[in-house]
Amino acid sequence: MSITITPSNHAVPDSERREKVAAPGFGKYYTDHMVVCEWTEEDGWGVPELKAYAPISLDPAAMVFHYGQEIFEGMKAYRQPDGGIALFRPEANAARFKRSAERIALPQMPEALFLETVDALVKQDAGWVPDKVGESLYIRPFMFATEVGLGVRPSNRALYMLIATPAGAYFNPANAVTVWISTEYVRAALGGTGEAKCGGNYAASLVAQRAAAKEGCDQVVWIDAVERKWVEEMGGMNLYFVKGTGASATIFTPKLTGTLLPGITRDSILSVAADLGYKVEEGMISVDEWRDGVASGEISEIFACGTAAVVSPVGCAKSAMGTWVTGDGKPGEITMQIRNTLLGIQHGTIPDTHNWMKKVL
Ligand SMILES: *Cc1c(COP(=O)(O)O)cnc(C)c1O
Repeated sequence: MSITITPSNHAVPDSERREKVAAPGFGKYYTDHMVVCEWTEEDGWGVPELKAYAPISLDPAAMVFHYGQEIFEGMKAYRQPDGGIALFRPEANAARFKRSAERIALPQMPEALFLETVDALVKQDAGWVPDKVGESLYIRPFMFATEVGLGVRPSNRALYMLIATPAGAYFNPANAVTVWISTEYVRAALGGTGEAKCGGNYAASLVAQRAAAKEGCDQVVWIDAVERKWVEEMGGMNLYFVKGTGASATIFTPKLTGTLLPGITRDSILSVAADLGYKVEEGMISVDEWRDGVASGEISEIFACGTAAVVSPVGCAKSAMGTWVTGDGKPGEITMQIRNTLLGIQHGTIPDTHNWMKKVL
């Protein structure tokens, strides 16, 4: 499969692009190109087209607007010390995109095709990859149902698209995230779509995010749907708890029960923490254990992790059961060590012993 490439005839001028890339924010600017690839039940996947970034036109009766059949991925390309560009674990995103598609009854895109489109867009828009540590090109693959019709059934047409946006290091070392543990809303139940990266999960989460903001919190923490006590995730990120301190600390994360989104950053930190000599554990942690562990000092640090922010310290937790603060409310030592190690691997300044980085240029 090769890609049809039609370069934009109105790319952002070099000087303007450099200004934007120097202060990228997140999701503020999009690169000059995008990739589009159509699938139909009859003919399968078409030839992907790389072309100028532009609005698309869809029939108002396209199924995605009515029944929400949509999935996405989030991945990053990082500038390397030699000026090149490398992707972090793109095969893991390709594999998860397939699993999400299966759950949402969308077509499964072959991994090789997915990876080829990512590679082509990053090469084409290489000038949009920022240089500084913590900065990156954030890549957003997504797919949605385009069959025209209001009948409720899996769509027989789908559109895959790929866009990219330069991303700043949105991390404020002075501030840990404040979270609202929601006992009112549920993110995912067994048999539902919690493991799939689909837009619908996010649509269902926004009212809880708003409730968290009303409580003065940055993010919502989700607990399990059945017993309403086991900690699952934070917003669109997985959670880690540091038990104990120093070299004998245990790095703990809620296990994947079928309702958590299997984060690639979460998975990578399991390895990174073990490489750094820590004990690593996946299990269950209740809200009570969180509160008591923080009170006794057994839980010394908490952080959230995901592609967008990489690692974010979690400080104050609020809930209907009370408010408690981890440590001194500042990013912990082990949190920062893990963050810096992962970023070092991503930027090619720390040896990539797991062969995670895939060179694009
Ligand atoms: C994407 C996502 C994560 C983090 O996954 P990464 O692969 O690490 O980016 C965690 N939770 C939810 C709900 C997500 O959508």
